[in-house]
Amino acid sequence: MNVQKLDRQYIAPTYNRFPVTIVSGRGSVVTDEDGKEYIDLGSGIAVNTFGVSDPVWQEAVIAQLGKVQHSSNLYYTAPCALLAEQLCLRTGMRKVFFSNSGAEANECLIKALRKGAADRFGPERNLIVTLENSFHGRTLTTLSATGQERFHALFQPLTPGFVHVPAGDLEALRTLTEQNAGRIAGILIECVQGEGGVIPLEPDYVKGLADLAEEQDILLGVDEVQTGNGRTGALYAYMRYGLKPDVVSTAKGLAGGLPLGATLLGERLAGVFGPGDHGSTFGGNPVCAAAALSVLERIDDALLAEVREKSDYLFRTMQGAEGVAAVAGLGLMIGILPAEKSAAEVVAACRERGVLCLTAKDRVRLLPALNIPRELWERAVGILLECCK
Ligand SMILES: *Cc1c(COP(=O)(O)O)cnc(C)c1O
Repeated sequence: MNVQKLDRQYIAPTYNRFPVTIVSGRGSVVTDEDGKEYIDLGSGIAVNTFGVSDPVWQEAVIAQLGKVQHSSNLYYTAPCALLAEQLCLRTGMRKVFFSNSGAEANECLIKALRKGAADRFGPERNLIVTLENSFHGRTLTTLSATGQERFHALFQPLTPGFVHVPAGDLEALRTLTEQNAGRIAGILIECVQGEGGVIPLEPDYVKGLADLAEEQDILLGVDEVQTGNGRTGALYAYMRYGLKPDVVSTAKGLAGGLPLGATLLGERLAGVFGPGDHGSTFGGNPVCAAAALSVLERIDDALLAEVREKSDYLFRTMQGAEGVAAVAGLGLMIGILPAEKSAAEVVAACRERGVLCLTAKDRVRLLPALNIPRELWERAVGILLECCK
């Protein structure tokens, strides 16, 4: 069977796939159909938190599969109740809504901002501010939230009510809030713009933005779909910025490789949803929730310290090195701008040499498993460095 040929014949060509067919793996090493092994620095776009077929994760999944795989949200199940408890205890948030993806977690976040503001101030307070170069998902509403024109052109009309301001420009935000006084429901940010090129927001800007939101009673939402679940060296990236958001969305790495989204509601939004206001057939699936419980339990202080150390190692090794124009990111969410080559060229060269990397805009993007063994990490960074030259 020629998988790549079959795929090209029958699957809608929305992805530019790399010419590799992954068949198996163990931890941070994946194997293609020819038996070639790669060190995986993408982990399925920040999804496989503990790599591929991690034994602890597998055990949690298999144990739940042996009990019940799905029950619908018409009944209670233990895994999603326990997971919601853990998420709340570890963030100080008050309630959780479970879905299946990042876009859905953001849809729920947007509904919470809209309804939360309308409940308190009336329905004309419905604008949501997001940042230019952001990415919030592929559904029509999350595309509208996404501050990148190239995603908008083909799918008009989009959901109205979104306004984009340049990231890092506090004056632009202040002007916008003045021009739209009493009309802004919420602000939604990614602390590190992932798809936008792995660009961390400046701490001073984020603080100014949060203060402005507080002053004007504007709700603050943080999209932690990519930055969440230990990725940046804190459980959630907003913690590294000292924020106290009203609502947080997360997905990608939450269940370590199974589809699960979560929207965390803080004090001011804890009561925003009542029966029938939102729902999802698959959301809170017990197998995904059991996987996430196991993942969360392992994202402890020791692991987070390890994430920050591995990050420091990369910055020390690559910043200012030959062939490297810039290194940016937070924790194990890193973007590297090659000095002379394109990101795609570097990624192709790495792949030849058995290292899988991703791109984001003009950057080589790294999102390794949080527990990638140090020896593998250092070896992969060495190869990446050579490929940048
Ligand atoms: C990936 C991503 C999304 C969309 O998540 P899906 O699971 O693909 O729907 C939303 N926001 C951010 C910041 C992301 O990185």
